[in-house]
Amino acid sequence: SPYFANVPQAPADGILKLSVLSKADSDANKVDLGVGAYRDDSGKPWVLPVIRTAEQRVASDPNGNHEYLGVGGLPALTNGAQKLIFGADSPAISEKRVYTIQTISGTGANMVAAVFLRQFKQPADAAVYISKPTWGNHRSILQTAGHEVREYRYCNYGTLGLDIDGMLEDLRAAPRNQIILLHACAHNPTGIDPTEAQWQQIADVMAERGHFPFFDCAYQGFATGDVDKDAYAIRLFVARGFELLVAESFAKNMGLYGERTGCLHAVTKDAALVGAVSSQLNRLSRATISTASAYGAKLAGTVLQDQGLYAEWVENMGEMSRRIKDMREGLRDRLQSLGTPGDWEHVARQIGMFSFTGLSKQQVDVLRDSYHLYMTDDGRISVAGLNSGNIDYVARAIDAVVR
Ligand code: PMP
Repeated sequence: SPYFANVPQAPADGILKLSVLSKADSDANKVDLGVGAYRDDSGKPWVLPVIRTAEQRVASDPNGNHEYLGVGGLPALTNGAQKLIFGADSPAISEKRVYTIQTISGTGANMVAAVFLRQFKQPADAAVYISKPTWGNHRSILQTAGHEVREYRYCNYGTLGLDIDGMLEDLRAAPRNQIILLHACAHNPTGIDPTEAQWQQIADVMAERGHFPFFDCAYQGFATGDVDKDAYAIRLFVARGFELLVAESFAKNMGLYGERTGCLHAVTKDAALVGAVSSQLNRLSRATISTASAYGAKLAGTVLQDQGLYAEWVENMGEMSRRIKDMREGLRDRLQSLGTPGDWEHVARQIGMFSFTGLSKQQVDVLRDSYHLYMTDDGRISVAGLNSGNIDYVARAIDAVVR
């Protein structure tokens, strides 16, 4: 029989399937709220103005070339990314307790972290706990790396807010020394983040139980427009003395989606541990990608290393996060003034790219089939897909299916 005959069909990826369906729909009213990528008010992909400037600088660099990066990646990026995540004055950086390796965007950072933890986790049978729900790829990445994956409660499906009691209970009830995957900010898919006080409670329980924090940070600066605020949780855990890993993506906050620009950071208890950890991360990266991709790193590194460009980048992020906030409030206002059954306050309260609307699978199906409105089966919308040209239509469509 053929060699490949024993390969079963892989389960379909919901988001990729959705984008195929949406692309094939040529209806004039079509609204794609599926893919998690920023769109401007005319529904178009947006190249950040600061990235346009960085492109010109990279293109006109007389020393520019297309050589391989070193195994750790581009220092302009990795050093800048370290300061961005932990704060320029972070003691962990000055004490040389941080190692940063460039990765294939956030997904690659998650995968390197997952394989590293699979090989070195303590105890060897520790499971990785993910939030219920979480970004669909987390489970897939962790299982591909060979982890046992368990869930902790996160979303209160009644209020569409944080189930902090359930979350703390589950973190307490887990065996000691488990790995806990946490979204640093702008939780995907729910848009629900813990408050600062709740992060402190989470840190308390994690310290009590000896859990290891593994942060996924895909939206720093994109969530609130303030890179420091969006790094609150990570910096809190570092200040509390945790060792940790952070997977960082520049896809959203720099609009570098396809350039696959990201980093993985490891913070160790003391500087003497960095040598071995960095050697293993380098080895894993070498075995899988050899070296990371250069172009996006040059763009992001240029922005992070230049004060003027950095300030412009913060402005650009502010513009994205403000537009998204306006769309959240606009959708809530429209649903409330239509008298749409339900409380739509959560749409405005949630944060980041996504809103967990509370729409059922059945309502999502009707919106897609009868209104050409595309969102994931769990009722998640990408708020960045809303704009002044489609928001009235979206509100009326949701109103119609909820009644
Ligand atoms: N983690 C989370 C929570 C995300 O939402 C995303 C983007 N969808 C990623 C990681 C990784 O994205 P990328 O590989 O494009 O950086």
